[in-house]
Amino acid sequence: MKRVYLDYAATTPTHPDVVRAMLPYFTDSFGNPSSIYSYGQEAKGAIEEAREKVAALIGAREDEIVFTSGGTEADNFAIKGTAFAHRNEFAHQNEFAHQNKRNHIITSAIEHHAVLETCHFLERRGFSLTYLPVDEYGLVDPAGLKEAITDNTVLVSIMHANNEIGTIQPIKELAVIAREAGAYFHTDAVQTVGHIPISVDELGVDLLSISAHKLYGPKGVGALYIRKGTKLVPFMHGGGQERNRRGSTENVPAITGFGKAAEIARQEMPEEGSRLTILRDCLIKRIFKQIEDTRLNGHPVNRLPNNVNVSISYVEGESMLLNLDLEAICASTGSACSSSSLEASHVLLALGLAHEQAHSSLRFTMGKWTTEEDVDRVMETLPQIVAKLRAMSPLLKSR
Ligand SMILES: *Cc1c(COP(=O)(O)O)cnc(C)c1O
Repeated sequence: MKRVYLDYAATTPTHPDVVRAMLPYFTDSFGNPSSIYSYGQEAKGAIEEAREKVAALIGAREDEIVFTSGGTEADNFAIKGTAFAHRNEFAHQNEFAHQNKRNHIITSAIEHHAVLETCHFLERRGFSLTYLPVDEYGLVDPAGLKEAITDNTVLVSIMHANNEIGTIQPIKELAVIAREAGAYFHTDAVQTVGHIPISVDELGVDLLSISAHKLYGPKGVGALYIRKGTKLVPFMHGGGQERNRRGSTENVPAITGFGKAAEIARQEMPEEGSRLTILRDCLIKRIFKQIEDTRLNGHPVNRLPNNVNVSISYVEGESMLLNLDLEAICASTGSACSSSSLEASHVLLALGLAHEQAHSSLRFTMGKWTTEEDVDRVMETLPQIVAKLRAMSPLLKSR
């Protein structure tokens, strides 16, 4: 049975051209980019070429791109880096407490764990945190940000698009509010870079996180865009790599692959975006038509082109996943992290869904190798699975 992979938001297959671009840097050109002999310089050249390609994808300058070990590190770097750069070192001593300016961070309730856990860490260390709520579609209200922001706010961190429900935030509007208050604006754009057009200047952001494995690059590499003039402390102390912002010998093959993935994404994005939007809307329509008592989670229009997230009443997401897996269909319920625990997704709960609704969610995320036949396969299988599970459902019988 051909496998139907519909979990591109969790990770994407590495593009064959990306793998090809990486290979020479394991063997022929293995030199250390910091070495001055030509072997090292070949590797250095490959990194700088990749930096140009990643910068071009988001309309940034090359010297504003710092390579990291992935999206999680980029998020940690952006948030801790700005928080620690602006903290008053003596604030823990009471007589100086009043001088502890800019110790307030604003984020949203539906961020990825890489952002939320970093914020919780800072909260435990004396920073003041605000978690903005979202509406029923997952949107942050700019008026809410305006109300929450103060002279002490150092950073506002709101994700570009949510990985579970696909809702795209009004970043431009939110970033203006942060700028007016003298705070930095960070966005986790892991789900959007390479998938929808992005210009850091048009968005007006100071910091932006990217992960290569969400855009057909290798795992374990990503980048943080840092607008020139943004003050933040280095994330890794060590050698002077990445202009003293991140020590550690560069992962040359991975960075090269990341650059290639960025180059391909830039060429293919417009066409791929419209193709996926059609497939997405087709799947949503067919689910609504063939399965009763379903709701779409996330925004109907301001939504990633590849994201379908539905709650199917009276059935558990996990049971549906296991049954789909038997038919060689890979999907997800909630986020990849929360699907292994019994906790309902914090994102779905933030939309105002009841626990049962949150537990009955199913996410299909499409990509480069998704076809109409894949959508057909889901629709040949899913209605039967739902009917079978509903026949056994105590939730439905008690209705
Ligand atoms: C996948 C993801 C991350 C984490 O990226 P890694 O490269 O896996 O560390 C962060 N934020 C969002 C929105 C993601 O989807």
